Amino acid sequence: MTAVSEHLAHPMVDRFGRVHRDLRISLTDKCNLRCAYCMPPEGVPWLSKNNILTTDELVRVAEVAAVLGIEEVRLTGGEPMLRQDAVDVVRRMAAIEGPSGPLEVSMTTNGMALPKHAADLAAAGLARVNISLDTLSKERFHELTHRDRLSDVLAGIDAALAAGLNPVKINAVAMRDVNDDELVDLVRFAARSGCEMRFIEQMPLDAGHVWSRVRMVRGEEILESLEQAFELTPLPGRGAAPAERFLVDGGPTTVGVIRSVTKPFCGACDRVRITADGQLRNCLFAREESDLLTVLRSGGSDDDIATLMHRCIAGKLPGHGIDDPGFLQPDRPMSAIGG
Ligand code: SAM
Ligand code: SF4
Repeated sequence: MTAVSEHLAHPMVDRFGRVHRDLRISLTDKCNLRCAYCMPPEGVPWLSKNNILTTDELVRVAEVAAVLGIEEVRLTGGEPMLRQDAVDVVRRMAAIEGPSGPLEVSMTTNGMALPKHAADLAAAGLARVNISLDTLSKERFHELTHRDRLSDVLAGIDAALAAGLNPVKINAVAMRDVNDDELVDLVRFAARSGCEMRFIEQMPLDAGHVWSRVRMVRGEEILESLEQAFELTPLPGRGAAPAERFLVDGGPTTVGVIRSVTKPFCGACDRVRITADGQLRNCLFAREESDLLTVLRSGGSDDDIATLMHRCIAGKLPGHGIDDPGFLQPDRPMSAIGG
């Protein structure tokens, strides 16, 4: 039971009227892959182990967030399944009741642990899963991630489907001269498997700071490439979702394109994030964080947690500013923020 006072127990609304319903929680910054757009081959300095939120702390934060109108929790990382307690976190979070019902718990994962854990995750109450897969070529996968693990990811997709997780979405970052010749094949693969394929524009969030706007494959190019093979019909009703969705050849297969850079959806953003070390972020690209860890570890009350969350959202900027002349990439890489 949370003890959030009545005057704080209301949705988190920012200065632009955006109501925040979606909480992204990074369970760990560690990962067992080294995707080039995210982490360098040698890894990055890991967050201090002592600062990683415990299961109880994560659950407490989610309970307060539910009182503040959060309806969906997405577990991410780093690789969330590297946390020993991942299934337990799902079970405890899925049992949290907010004002409009139980929290919907989903996960973004590289899929490698799913052959072993998909059934447990589904039984624990995981609603949906997004699995990252940028290529169907074993050699390319190895080159891109520095690990020879394509077959584990493919087995993970099968396991997610067999466990009844629905929908299973497959995320690929489109990269020039890396996988931009595979976009159609990836859609066909997803359709055969009964998944939805989604392509993401590469964002300036790599630890090596080597992102280049000129090299980035733009959403428009992704669509042009798909339109060479398929008839795409836009689907209405996007809401706060980042993906623009299209019916492929009249359906039922669909494909999504996430144009975070060239067609930002900041105006509809309903997301707030917590890093594995307990820092609240109101945007992937935020330059400032709110220190929830200290509140949690210094005897803060549920009202203190709620106050910090409201304050964090109150300070949210209208957009991520990638196009502003003064744009600065956040200090944390994607793996330490939580994608
Ligand atoms: N390890 C898990 C995974 O890969 O699915 C979860 C964390 S990962 C950071 C979450 C998502 O962010 C993945 O779909 C990944 O492809 C995406 N991502 C990582 N770096 C990115 C970047 N620079 N631009 C766009 N998407 C990125
Ligand atoms: Fe790991 Fe996910 Fe980053 Fe790839 S994108 S290195 S799987 S955290």
